[in-house]
Amino acid sequence: MGTSVNIIEGSQVWVEDQDQAWLDGQVLKITGQNAEIDCSNGKKVTLNLSKIYPKDMEAPAGGVDDMTKLSYLHEPGVLQNLKSRYELNEIYTYTGNILIAINPFQRLPHIYDGHMMQQYKGAPFGELSPHVFAVADVAYREYRAMVNEGKSNSILVSGESGAGKTETTKMLMRYLAYLGGRAATEGRTVEQQVLESNPVLEAFGNAKTVRNNNSSRFGKFVEIQFDKHGRISGAAIRTYLLERSRVCQINDPERNYHCFYLLCAAPQEEIEKYKLDHPKTFHYLNQSKCFELVGISDAHDYLATRRAMDIVGISAKEQEAIFRVVAAILHLGNIVFTKGKEVDSSVPKDEKAKFHLKTTAELLMCDAVALEDALCKRVMITPEEVIKRSLDPQSAAISRDGLAKTIYSRLFDCSDIVLHLCLHQHRLVDKINNSIGQDPTSKCLIGVLDIYGFESFKTNSFEQFCINFTNEKLQQHFNQHVFKMEQEEYTKEQIDWSYIEFVDNQDVLDLIEKKPGGIIALLDEACMFPKSTHETFSNKLYQTFKSHKRFIKPKLSRTDFTIGHYAGEVQYQSDQFLDKNKDYVVAEHQELLGASKCQFVAGLFPPPPEETSKSSKFSSIGSRFKLQLQQLMETLNSTEPHYIRCVKPNNLLKPAIFENVNIMQQLRCGGVLEAIRISCAGYPTRRAFFEFINRFGLLAPEALEGNYDEKVACKRIMDKKGLKGFQIGKTKVFLRAGQMAELDARRSEVL
Ligand code: ADP
Ligand code: MG
Repeated sequence: MGTSVNIIEGSQVWVEDQDQAWLDGQVLKITGQNAEIDCSNGKKVTLNLSKIYPKDMEAPAGGVDDMTKLSYLHEPGVLQNLKSRYELNEIYTYTGNILIAINPFQRLPHIYDGHMMQQYKGAPFGELSPHVFAVADVAYREYRAMVNEGKSNSILVSGESGAGKTETTKMLMRYLAYLGGRAATEGRTVEQQVLESNPVLEAFGNAKTVRNNNSSRFGKFVEIQFDKHGRISGAAIRTYLLERSRVCQINDPERNYHCFYLLCAAPQEEIEKYKLDHPKTFHYLNQSKCFELVGISDAHDYLATRRAMDIVGISAKEQEAIFRVVAAILHLGNIVFTKGKEVDSSVPKDEKAKFHLKTTAELLMCDAVALEDALCKRVMITPEEVIKRSLDPQSAAISRDGLAKTIYSRLFDCSDIVLHLCLHQHRLVDKINNSIGQDPTSKCLIGVLDIYGFESFKTNSFEQFCINFTNEKLQQHFNQHVFKMEQEEYTKEQIDWSYIEFVDNQDVLDLIEKKPGGIIALLDEACMFPKSTHETFSNKLYQTFKSHKRFIKPKLSRTDFTIGHYAGEVQYQSDQFLDKNKDYVVAEHQELLGASKCQFVAGLFPPPPEETSKSSKFSSIGSRFKLQLQQLMETLNSTEPHYIRCVKPNNLLKPAIFENVNIMQQLRCGGVLEAIRISCAGYPTRRAFFEFINRFGLLAPEALEGNYDEKVACKRIMDKKGLKGFQIGKTKVFLRAGQMAELDARRSEVL
């Protein structure tokens, strides 16, 4: 993106700065390749010309609503534009078709109300200010136009935790429900159900983290189906990879999943029925001192969740079972073990532990002795005999936590299925009631994806590995799409284009998912081999990927490994990879709960499928996730995508604070800069003929004499200034990177 050729003494420029990302200033003196700059904050710096970018002195003060309208499409220009808009509470900006949304961390008045929805309905894209509604409206219109071809649309929302993805997704869903809603009729409508699925999922899948008080700990893809008339006819929600470890382990000041606290704040009757108490009395909740959330009433939210479950169509009986299981998990966590009489055995520590054991068994409707056995003993099958081995207290606690995680993740996955079924009830009714002509097999939909963004923390484990794998996949999809759109624009304007190169991340994807030989495959192999440890696994990785460009063995560690992701390097700690990847449910646990007298609980543990071969028996979280991702990508590839990139302006979660360096980093990770780079590789600046002539006509007044042809005039201006490589399209001039700046420089000489 360098345009240093146009920088002369006196030029207004941007220079890179460690604290501010970019500082503006004026060039005092140029000596060889170095320029001395007087920065606006008083600093004087000397920098290589390649580190300096020209500042667009004609950029409007309030910014432009589409980055492609910027004359200089470089990093500082992009950042400055977002900043000036954010100061005016303009949180949305386009980059071509991509919507960038900066979290306002405050409710902005009226921007999502009914009047706004009405305005955006059917308005041509780009005519009104950038908005999520505009993106949803395009998706809906494209969908309507293509419904006969069976083409689906998708809206992909991404960004780091706390950036506003889930809020954005909810706005999109509300707007789509508004467009596809029917006149209010009796009872609940599908669109109401669709909207109310959000609080239900959030109760079970969201938690307070340091990054977001209502952080979704899972990814979701919401499919909204419409009928021939454009009305919502059904919906499905698919969830991805819930964070399981949170059920048993939380760090101050985070919280466990909301539903635990909601249930502890339920009406007295339920508290008694489930033998509950204050959250601080439960081990799974009191590892953190945070029990309450500012401005949120768990008691109120409990009732709201129950109401939402009603609307969605989850029966009273199912609701009772769901919360009974939630209570059981809390009691389960309080079963503390101590050494038993035999060596290396364990028993519930005291009367309290026994009480929780008994209560857990009651709530799960299983046998208390069998539960104790399942927690404290393991059956070992050796070629010679079957032995029942006792577990020491520490292993029993691990067994207990394993059970809690399994129950909770099964419960969450089943909420997926329950919601899916509920949301489709109407569809069945529709099928029966609707007049002929309706195509009941139509698979057309608008999908909305709300999935975790790229993560790089101090310590990164298996979860970050999966999350970043997801993001590599989406990034590839994004790159390919942006690239295609770019070429389509060229074709439309009938200009020549040659191959534009972009950084393809296929090599990282191969490193992770290639079969055989990728990291996931090697991890599965390690998990199947009983003697593996994280050391042997890491060594295997080091050997296998010794010369892989994207794989690095960190110097100071013997078990960490680093992957060079598109968004930067991430160092992973391998010590929990094996455990976290193992998906099997201990046979004792399976047996215990499969035999529960509660149909709902037994249903969470269906008998495992008959073993056909050894390989199909083994299932791992990593491989299952890879498969889920593959399916998601297939779905996405068959849709027309629309992108929304959410940005978190600061880590304080406060309004009106715009942290340059932080935001720049997110734009990089989110591929926004890459999209800009792709367009820079071609013809980043486009101007309609008349606009171009207005700005640069004075460079060649002779071209504008008499009755001139706009197209010819544009070409003459460019030729006169000796510019090469540009293209003249049907309606626009296409400029190479830097040419706009060059013309501006010529212009200021004339002025
Ligand atoms: P993510 O899903 O990306 O982790 P959320 O959507 O949960 O982030 O947003 C985090 C918080 O930011 C929300 O709880 C809300 O307080 C605030 N927020 C996000 N988007 C908006 C918005 N458009 N208007 C007002 N507040 C918002
Ligand atoms: Mg979220």
